[in-house]
Amino acid sequence: MKQSQLFTKTRREAPKDEVAKNAQLLIRAGYIHKEMAGAYCYLPLGLRTLNKIINIIREEMNAIGGQEVHLTALQDKQKWEATGRWSDEVIDVWFKTELKNGNQVGLGTTHEEPLTSLMKDHINSFRDLPIAVYQFQTKFRNEIRAKSGIMRGREFLMKDLYSFNATQQEHNAYYERAKQAYVKIFERLGLGDKTFVTFASGGSFAKYSHEFQTVTEAGEDTIYLHEGKKLAVNKEVLNDEVLKDLGILRSDLKEVKAIEVGNIFNLGTKFSDAFGLTFKDEEGKVNPVIMGCYGIGPGRVMGTIAEIWSDEKGLVWPEAVAPFAVHLIAIFDKNGEVKKATDALYEKLVKQGVEVLYDDRDTSAGQKFSDSDLIGIPKRMVLSEKTMKNNQIEVKDRKSGEVRMEEIL
Ligand code: ATP
Ligand code: MG
Repeated sequence: MKQSQLFTKTRREAPKDEVAKNAQLLIRAGYIHKEMAGAYCYLPLGLRTLNKIINIIREEMNAIGGQEVHLTALQDKQKWEATGRWSDEVIDVWFKTELKNGNQVGLGTTHEEPLTSLMKDHINSFRDLPIAVYQFQTKFRNEIRAKSGIMRGREFLMKDLYSFNATQQEHNAYYERAKQAYVKIFERLGLGDKTFVTFASGGSFAKYSHEFQTVTEAGEDTIYLHEGKKLAVNKEVLNDEVLKDLGILRSDLKEVKAIEVGNIFNLGTKFSDAFGLTFKDEEGKVNPVIMGCYGIGPGRVMGTIAEIWSDEKGLVWPEAVAPFAVHLIAIFDKNGEVKKATDALYEKLVKQGVEVLYDDRDTSAGQKFSDSDLIGIPKRMVLSEKTMKNNQIEVKDRKSGEVRMEEIL
């Protein structure tokens, strides 16, 4: 893409009311627009990065047999009454609204109720199981505080997968597969070193659930880290029993700030009981389906990456999620030679399938370099009168700052 065609502009300052580093940087670099507190628009660069994150998650969900769907954000009150979760006391972040006829509907905070109800049309026998279904869906939550940029939206994207199994044993095996898939996802996203499987409370059907917590000062949670075992314990379950279960000592744990980027949960038969989601086993006996749910927030992940992978000059994207692989910069000369050579190199790279952002704007070298640092594309290639004298390109690595010269071929 040619930068002269990109409608977004970089800016020196973030909006005054924006306190989160991730949103400040992403706004300044033109990735996102702050519509209001807790609601952000994704602009072309931001959408490219978000889609890369989504695709990594999608590949790993497909690899564990997930079938992608898209449910509705508008929610049927009756279904939520079946589990008692329509109540504002039970779910305190509901956005509710009314139809013209006066009937109430909700904006989805999560999708256990509608999906469990939907699956009744498709699950009858043990032959229909196991099933895993997932979506990328906008969720609405009336969060009290929305000061963490895109890490905590009132409107945000969630990948939510739900598993349906015949037995507890099969559920447990699937849960373990999903956990491994999550480990892989956060590694691929460049968060592997800082993301810890964290033991949290499990609800009525399991002793523990597992959160994926990424260590960052910008995090809203406090967790207790065991670096040797690469695991952590959530504050709410830190007690002698969990220490014994995990075979760890309190003195080996370090208190750190972290952000929950994902979590996996055993739902047992809570939702299948409420909706009568059952199947007939081989003996013809009717049993409730065992369910699990598995969430990741792609927007929160993007914000977390921005918090961790950035420096005083701007963003420093890991290759897997960068909006482009190469930032090609032309420092124009008077007679148009540099422009001609850079145009040709751009065409060549595009033909090779390289994702290039080409700064062909008629602006100063200083502006181009500071914008490039802010935007944070991993590899920068510069052509100028000086480099062309030796028939060379300057190649700079955004992360290490290393510079080397390469021949123009
Ligand atoms: P938190 O405790 O941070 O509010 P949660 O326990 O409410 O998170 P879940 O309901 O389990 O989160 O949602 C699954 C995933 O969706 C989370 O792991 C997180 O990545 C993402 N998520 C949750 N709330 C938000 C939000 N307000 N903005 C952006 N992403 C979110
Ligand atoms: Mg929450």
